[in-house]
Amino acid sequence: MDAIVEEIRRAYATVGITLDAPAAYGTYYRLLCAGCGRMVGNVGDHLLPGMAAELVAEQFELYASGLLGCPCGHQSQTTRQLDTPRWQAARQRFDA
Ligand SMILES: [Zn+2]
Repeated sequence: MDAIVEEIRRAYATVGITLDAPAAYGTYYRLLCAGCGRMVGNVGDHLLPGMAAELVAEQFELYASGLLGCPCGHQSQTTRQLDTPRWQAARQRFDA
């Protein structure tokens, strides 16, 4: 695995998402829920260093409130453990 893919993998792991093996044709990786294995999206490997962590950090509120991520709620649970005050603020903001 090259450095950028490893960086993407680590960034998504913080919110409870696993990077799967590359999809056909290589440059896209499937994102799987670390709780139940359901596919929750795709990510390309053409990100620049630092972008993956930034992207995931920007989406924190969406994962916290359940607007993004898996219906099983795993990303919401994971973000709650990561930063409970921020998680609570996001839930209030999105009325989740
Ligand atoms: Zn799930």
